[in-house]
Amino acid sequence: MRRLCIHTITTKPWSTEECIRNYSRAGAGGITFWRYNLEGRDPAAVGRQAREAGLEVTSLCRGGFFPASTAQDRQKALDDNRRCIEEAHALGAPLIVLVCGAVPGQPLDESRKQITEGIAAVLPEAEAAGVRLGIEPLHPMYADDRSAVNTMRQANDICDALGSPQMLGIAADVYHIWWDPELKEQIALTAERGRLFAFHICDWRTPTTDLLNDRGLMGEGCIPIRQISEWVDAAGFQGAREVEIFSSRWWSQDQHEWLEKITEAYRALYEIPAGA
Ligand code: ZN
Repeated sequence: MRRLCIHTITTKPWSTEECIRNYSRAGAGGITFWRYNLEGRDPAAVGRQAREAGLEVTSLCRGGFFPASTAQDRQKALDDNRRCIEEAHALGAPLIVLVCGAVPGQPLDESRKQITEGIAAVLPEAEAAGVRLGIEPLHPMYADDRSAVNTMRQANDICDALGSPQMLGIAADVYHIWWDPELKEQIALTAERGRLFAFHICDWRTPTTDLLNDRGLMGEGCIPIRQISEWVDAAGFQGAREVEIFSSRWWSQDQHEWLEKITEAYRALYEIPAGA
């Protein structure tokens, strides 16, 4: 299960230390930290602790939220992204996932322009720190206030505009992009341009009762995860498959049992025998 990585938000009730200990015991190969995991802690020590437990630090979530209606607030966002880059560097995380942001009522193309400018402003610091930035296109239901980047194509356009194939790329999350009729081609194109940086998995429940916190475990919903995984692998991606599930429903249950369900679902999805 080398390619299984778990986002700490998936087991939100657990402390940073509990996540490290329990993911390692469950046989995961990687961990993606969320920034709240670093609060009151030394990021370098957290990274060391994870690696000593046999976990690769896959990425840090999240930077972004660049657009704002005032220059002052856009500056605040840049400052926060610079802090995020420092944290990722200290943690030993090679990648920051960007949830790019949007402002309700502000035209989406204006927000995308501010996102492009924001990424351009912090890219030199990311390069100097050796930390890559991965734009995560978000499902269009979040276009009002979470991200004006809603498709792989839009994310690729921003990457094209800014160059830097080494340091700027895309985090592809099945929850956000599974519906896209261009998905197969865009995954291939992203990989071909050397910028498919991350792959996130979970499922889409019907009905979805909460826009943010009702994601499903793989197999609970309608996303053709195996098919999308095959496209991702066929494009040459060999990185982690990151389980990222926001779910009030699962957070309210015993987290050890929840983690067991995650590993079972992962094994079933990728046909990995028990013990392997
Ligand atoms: Zn994601």
